[in-house]
Amino acid sequence: MTALPQSRHLATEIPGPRASELLERQRAAVPAGVASVMPTFAVRADGGIIEDVDGNRLIDLGSGIAVTNVGASAERVVAGVQEQVAQFTHTCFMVTPYEGYVRVAEKLAELTPVDGEVRTALFNSGAEAVENAVKVARAYTGRQAVAAFDHAYHGRTTLTMALTAKNMPYKHSFGPFAPEVYRAAGSYPLRDGLDGAAAAERAIDQLEKQVGAENLAAVIIEPIQGEGGFIAPAPGFLPAIVDWCRANGIVFIADEIQTGFARTGQWFACEDEGISPDIITTAKGIAGGLPLSAVTGRAEIMDAAHPGGLGGTYGGNPVACAAALGAIETIEAEDLTAKARRIEEIAAGRLREAQQQDPRIGEVRGRGAMLAVELVDPETGAPDAALTGAVAAAARAAGVITLTCGTYGNVIRLLPPLTIGEDLLTEGLDIILDALAAA
Ligand SMILES: *Cc1c(COP(=O)(O)O)cnc(C)c1O
Repeated sequence: MTALPQSRHLATEIPGPRASELLERQRAAVPAGVASVMPTFAVRADGGIIEDVDGNRLIDLGSGIAVTNVGASAERVVAGVQEQVAQFTHTCFMVTPYEGYVRVAEKLAELTPVDGEVRTALFNSGAEAVENAVKVARAYTGRQAVAAFDHAYHGRTTLTMALTAKNMPYKHSFGPFAPEVYRAAGSYPLRDGLDGAAAAERAIDQLEKQVGAENLAAVIIEPIQGEGGFIAPAPGFLPAIVDWCRANGIVFIADEIQTGFARTGQWFACEDEGISPDIITTAKGIAGGLPLSAVTGRAEIMDAAHPGGLGGTYGGNPVACAAALGAIETIEAEDLTAKARRIEEIAAGRLREAQQQDPRIGEVRGRGAMLAVELVDPETGAPDAALTGAVAAAARAAGVITLTCGTYGNVIRLLPPLTIGEDLLTEGLDIILDALAAA
């Protein structure tokens, strides 16, 4: 599959000598606000391994934040990009269109759980997709207000920062934020103890009393909340919110930027909830690592924006579209939705075993290859961010790229490439669990 050996290997400490030099150059040339999790620099990556400048081979349990679902140098992505980049790199779809863009839109019509006739507009980043989904919802409804939820993450631009819940590090000192954004309580079974119906009733009551259904253009939600802590809502929560939106002419936007493209064991996480969003935003896993995002929605909603109202210089860049077609083909050919479910079988099993022995593991949750461990004080159940940070640091030092998340910073999240070998996955998990046992 690849020339890069699929085994962990520590040639030096991390950072090694070459990485240390680069870190110094980074500090002199890149602002402190752009911080990196791993104190080293990549030179090659594929399958479950990232090789660094000092010859260390790290187990990748992050996929560059749920992006390289198909691997970081998947054959079909590389081939598609190479062919396209030699033909032309850019014309601007708003000036001279090309087939790749239309082909990606056709594939998304086929694959996304949006019912009926659909349209897709392409952009560069997830935040840009969310911004445009809100623009379209406002144009369609003639309303302005948008509702998001506790623990939400939707990006770092002015509007998407407003939609994002967590102050530090995403919003702090960066206000004022976009107006007409409101927040409701979501569903966090471990911490609110509510079933789906009760949590939905609480959220709907807040929105009706504080905003008014008739003022809402859109409700936006991640079907499994990502940065907020890999929080899967209680069963029934999402369908109840969708029903309320439909009854009140509110556009229901599913932000599947992190959950999409086979990550959760289906093409999209909404499929497990039996819901069909009016609009779905996608990015991250869409194009094997190239910057691309999409807004896919019901035709009557998407067509509400006037001609020329949507776009951008680079949106749906032809090289990124070729990568997306290669990534989608890879997911189909290698049956990566099944692979995600297999990852869940292996990893969730091991983590639940560990939970039996260790009361600091408050919960193991998630779906497919989007799994998390919430670490708590065993006496009080209070979030333990210090323990989480220590475990992640120890795992990273041992050569496992380990990400954390959560409103309280106490969640270790697993987002391996779906092409990771089972041995590497198990080794990575063992290292994290050993780090926890030692902490
Ligand atoms: C990452 C993410 C975004 C923002 O995507 P960018 O490409 O970083 O702008 C939005 N929503 C969710 C759910 C995400 O995980």
